[in-house]
Amino acid sequence: MPAVLLALLTLILCPVAAAETDGPLVFVSVLPQQTFVQRIGGERVRVRTLVQPDQSPHTFEPRPRQVAELAQADLYLGTGVSFEDAWLPRIRAANPRLRVVDLREGLPLLTLADHDHDHDHDHPVDAPDPHVWTSPPLVKAMSLAIRDALIDLDPEGRETYIANQAAFAAELDALDAELRALLKDLPSRRFMVHHPAWGYFAHTYDLTQVAIEREGKEPGARALNALIEQAKREGVRLILVQPQMNPKSAEQVARAIGGEVAVVDPLAPDYAETLRRLARLIAEAGT
Ligand code: ZN
Repeated sequence: MPAVLLALLTLILCPVAAAETDGPLVFVSVLPQQTFVQRIGGERVRVRTLVQPDQSPHTFEPRPRQVAELAQADLYLGTGVSFEDAWLPRIRAANPRLRVVDLREGLPLLTLADHDHDHDHDHPVDAPDPHVWTSPPLVKAMSLAIRDALIDLDPEGRETYIANQAAFAAELDALDAELRALLKDLPSRRFMVHHPAWGYFAHTYDLTQVAIEREGKEPGARALNALIEQAKREGVRLILVQPQMNPKSAEQVARAIGGEVAVVDPLAPDYAETLRRLARLIAEAGT
């Protein structure tokens, strides 16, 4: 096939890919990670996220099209969400030149038992909590790992990656200060959540997350009643839910305590705005 025709076909078949750089192809698990990689990689890298906005990373399976594109990828930046355990070995086997970096490496990981002694998750309580990106100081640490992985792949972009990471780190520091100010001096430092995705956020800002879910499942009637009693005792008025999960039990608790359900998405790509909104909701409910 003549080259011109081939180029034309490529343009027609994949207009997005044609408009993009041919720089490193980086895959991440969840959308906030994509935001971080784009901030540091800028125009030099192509970033793809496996878990789409309406999917839960705990039950996710890649689509065939994603598996095919992963075979072309240069770098995978993991964060320990459950599907990675099952899929990363297969992805590696299909693409032996793929570099895999776990962005949690070197971070002070918490288990779900550290966050909350009453309830657990769909992982065993002594397994590390994967939702590390909910803490800005931890994202700052992750940004260094992202920067170094990109420099390794694309040494010519070194100056760009260093400058972008520094700017991003300054933004994270500012966000952290803003959240600290919003969340200081609250009479109640506990908040209730359907799925325990905010453990690192809670730990960073000296809050306690109380989860409705138990081992990734809806609580039974007895557990639900105990949660309602606890919520009443502690003056809880706000229950957080995320759009990937059915909030039925959260709504039941909210009704029983005369409180409210608010949707905040830990997988949202607009990272800073999401955390600001979360902090404001907690501050308003806790005052
Ligand atoms: Zn989760």
